[in-house]
Amino acid sequence: MKRRAQLSVILALFAPLSLFLLNANCRMPQNSETKNMPVNTASPANQERDALSIHRRAIAIDMHADTTQRMVDENIDLSQRLADGHLDTVRMKDGALDAQFFSIWVEPQLYGSGGQSASKRADVQIEAVRALAEKHPETWEVATSAGDIRRIAEAGKLAALMGLEGGYAIDEKLENVERYYRMGVRYMSPAWSVSTSWAGSSGDEAGRTRGLNDFGKEVIREMNRLGMMIDVSHVSDKAFWDIVNTSTKPIIATHSNARAIANVPRNLDDEMIRALAKTGGVACVLFYPEFLEPGWSEKKKQVDAEIAPLVQRASNAEQGSIARKKMARDRVRIEEYARRLPPVTVSRIVDHIDHIVKLVGINHVGVGSDFDGIQAVPTDLTNVADLPNLTGELLKRGYTEEDIHKILGGNILRVMEAVERK
Ligand SMILES: [Zn+2]
Repeated sequence: MKRRAQLSVILALFAPLSLFLLNANCRMPQNSETKNMPVNTASPANQERDALSIHRRAIAIDMHADTTQRMVDENIDLSQRLADGHLDTVRMKDGALDAQFFSIWVEPQLYGSGGQSASKRADVQIEAVRALAEKHPETWEVATSAGDIRRIAEAGKLAALMGLEGGYAIDEKLENVERYYRMGVRYMSPAWSVSTSWAGSSGDEAGRTRGLNDFGKEVIREMNRLGMMIDVSHVSDKAFWDIVNTSTKPIIATHSNARAIANVPRNLDDEMIRALAKTGGVACVLFYPEFLEPGWSEKKKQVDAEIAPLVQRASNAEQGSIARKKMARDRVRIEEYARRLPPVTVSRIVDHIDHIVKLVGINHVGVGSDFDGIQAVPTDLTNVADLPNLTGELLKRGYTEEDIHKILGGNILRVMEAVERK
């Protein structure tokens, strides 16, 4: 109000000059250069507003964040706006994200070493997610179904879900799959960067020849029976194909991109994306430049070699647990990657989405940021509060509101409902 009043005084005093200036600012595209361009009536400001309102109307689900380990190891208070990291309650609301799958990640060193330690490490993280909802019932609620997510989002609250990353925690016991299902876990990836005895990983030598053994196939069938989604992110190609051939339910990749753009073992090739879509599943793109940008991985290897002494020094200086040592190493990596590696933007994420959509259509793509688990982020998607920038870029590329709602969460809700059905 105040500003408008001031403006009319100025207009009255300097009317001729002001009108001239206004006309100059509102010039219409009349010259021959702009005549044949597609008509875009929306100003950048309007487009931004549209993106935000489309984004807010969607049920947005992030399939993967490693914030759980921060809750346990750093004892962070997720209800506050945090100065570091990628995700907290305040920034999640700013970014209009409705549901977060918290990764229950277990260090592979704990697997097989005396039986119970991997399960214990998982249990502590599950407890931390549950405690978040118990301490802040006005904001958070634990969700275990698509119906829960819809209801919680409708109430304007945030849904906390859980997925086991790497099958280390089930400790080679089939009954533990049900135990984790009952604790609220709704997806599991059979391996992280290190192969288990029963499932190959994309991250080590063993995975090159290892798929699923008989026990691995039993685990998949048990997950199908219980209604737990199977996550193929991190598994070896051979394990991927064994999973596709064993599962009777849709399969998801919670945080993997397209190998056709960034050729790394962690990404999916076109044949895999087609097979995953054929199960009715969804591939969720992640925000890590190494898996987004062609050539970034090679450059990173070079930087890793250069900063190895720095990283080692930071690790040695940290006297705490193996988790705290990892945090110390990651702090150095975050700083050095930002300084030494090429920047990546949200536009590259949408290149991966475009690729998947061109291959298999709009119904098989989603989002899995990997926030708090990655040591570099796109310059315009530095934390969860920036999530509407992804919607803005999708809108710019011509995706409709309906398309965008599917990408942000609708496709995953469909898979959850299909997997829940007995
Ligand atoms: Zn991961």
